[in-house]
Amino acid sequence: MDRTDRATATVLGSAVGDALGAPFEFGEPGAYTARFPDGRGEMHAGGGWERGEATDDTQMAVLTAHSLLERGGLDLPDVFHRFRRWAAADPKDIGLQTEDVLGSGLPWDRAAAAHFAHNSRAAGNGSLMRAAPSAVHFARYGRTATMDAARRLAALTHGDPAAWEGTAVFHELVRVALDGGDPVAAVPEALDAVDPAQRDRWAVVLAPGWHPGLATEFNGAVWPCLGSALWALRSTGSYEEAVGAAIDLGGDTDTVAAVTGALAGAVHGTAAIPDRWLRPLHVPLPGCGGTVLHANELAVLARELVSAGV
Ligand SMILES: [Mg+2]
Repeated sequence: MDRTDRATATVLGSAVGDALGAPFEFGEPGAYTARFPDGRGEMHAGGGWERGEATDDTQMAVLTAHSLLERGGLDLPDVFHRFRRWAAADPKDIGLQTEDVLGSGLPWDRAAAAHFAHNSRAAGNGSLMRAAPSAVHFARYGRTATMDAARRLAALTHGDPAAWEGTAVFHELVRVALDGGDPVAAVPEALDAVDPAQRDRWAVVLAPGWHPGLATEFNGAVWPCLGSALWALRSTGSYEEAVGAAIDLGGDTDTVAAVTGALAGAVHGTAAIPDRWLRPLHVPLPGCGGTVLHANELAVLARELVSAGV
């Protein structure tokens, strides 16, 4: 598989994980295995979601992709404007912190910082969950540039540097995978590029022996979310097993599976993502005139993100 295939699988893999995990959100560990005892998971409706419907994770990812493509690169005020228009259109789900920041009425470069100044627990996984398209787009510019773009996009809604660094590590691991490398093996070098003030805490959850049972926060926080995604990737042998393991952790299942699905897609490629999961996949975009994207349109977006400006 080539780089374009891996990039397509990163974007599709994230969206599929999101939609597959959505009905299990805030459920107990083991719920996926209990529902699909033979290990063959199926898209299904639940928790207010239609069968195959992607949630805010993928919706915000697509908004980011549209901005990168239409603006010809990173235009932070434009991304923020698109997020705010979407949030104002009453999406079915939106992260608490993201909602506060986008609804604050403050300008793009002050809203998240103002929220962080009054909320010590601001390291949610909400900037990590939407990062597949930007990770695909900025990979070509190398480690420093893709990690920097990740931080700036994360900072639109998350004032906590822990969220910036987690999103930056995710960008770097996707970059390595798109080049055909092993993202698990790339963790030490990625950690070297992390803000030293944040590094120790990231090193704990990204260590080879870490597993979700060692998490000290709910997996809606950025550290156990990325740690769990990496654990799911390295402890399974296929895309299907990786997202199943992520959802089976319970908690913030759509987001942990979206992050896992991006990494597993980048590693295993499009052929590893089951057709039966791609067919019902759809991404409504509140605030965008009734637009609904399907798998083929997400694949086109991914290919454009790889080739735009080259
Ligand atoms: Mg969600």
